[in-house]
Amino acid sequence: MAKPDVSHLPYESSFVPEILTEDHRTKFACHPGVSCFNACCKQADVMLAPYDVIRLKQHLKMTSGEFLAEHTVPWEVDSDGIIGVKLKTNEDKHCLLMTEKGCSVYDDRPAACRYYPFGLMGVKHTEAKTDEQSYFRIEEEHCKGHEEENFLPETIEMTLGEYRKNQQVEEYDKYNLDWIRLMLKKKSAGPSVGKPSPESLQILFMATYDLDRFMRFISSPNFKSVYIVDDETYNKIENDDVALLEFGYRFLRQVLFGEKTIELREDVVKQRSEERQEIWKARHEAEMEYASFNDPRYDPEVMGDEVMRDDMLKEKEAAGNKENNAEGTDK
Ligand code: SF4
Ligand code: SF4
Repeated sequence: MAKPDVSHLPYESSFVPEILTEDHRTKFACHPGVSCFNACCKQADVMLAPYDVIRLKQHLKMTSGEFLAEHTVPWEVDSDGIIGVKLKTNEDKHCLLMTEKGCSVYDDRPAACRYYPFGLMGVKHTEAKTDEQSYFRIEEEHCKGHEEENFLPETIEMTLGEYRKNQQVEEYDKYNLDWIRLMLKKKSAGPSVGKPSPESLQILFMATYDLDRFMRFISSPNFKSVYIVDDETYNKIENDDVALLEFGYRFLRQVLFGEKTIELREDVVKQRSEERQEIWKARHEAEMEYASFNDPRYDPEVMGDEVMRDDMLKEKEAAGNKENNAEGTDK
């Protein structure tokens, strides 16, 4: 069987080339009594998805920016330059959140840690319109949970679906799958969408991982001068990181794929796209001089302006096409 494409997934581990479903039966035990206790956390290569960051930053009472700076390292998810983050480790690859007694953030540990030694992937078949949720197994020398003799009664033979419930990972999947879908869509759209600009990549990072910064961006006069977002939505996303993340996904689907769900101010679209072409061009050139591609610390206002410009231009183009079509019908 061909190896599934898991290039968007967290692990550089030895995953087994077999796509699993929820019905797959497994026998695995992990508890403080296992001979390999903490071994996985001592070789940690944990990619974080957006909802993981929300849970961890809340647990550690940090802002997203503080958490990202202190506990993560960036990595390039794909050849188009999408940036993700992994948990920071020490030089021996020990997770910084590990203690001798186990995980210090256990109740809010990332989805990858909950799944291990399994993993989640979105599989999109060429003909299918939507992706399917599938799983894979990871086999690593250090993990003895598969051959553990002291199985707890409840861990003897369970389906992957039951394992997911035990690990309380369903909530994580609910909010992280949209992020996987965004990446799958970007990947499968290929040249029709084109390689994302550095500004789009940075907005993608901000709207998924650096939510406190994203909140500042969408609260800025600049954003509000272009988009119409009602007070009720603002109140909700200001006080709820999950709602903010979901708004971020909407914004990204709009600016990356033209799925319009956030209203643009028509008059501003027209006026600004006419007036500011030259300013944007000059600013873009200046930004390209300064922007460090691997450094997610950027000015959200500046990068956001670029992405909003693209969204406005798409809108203007669509309006132009509509007018042309109408004229064609009259004749
Ligand atoms: S977050 Fe917790 S479970 Fe995950 S690698 Fe670190 S210590 Fe281990
Ligand atoms: S059984 Fe596997 S997952 Fe559990 S502590 Fe050991 S290495 Fe980690």
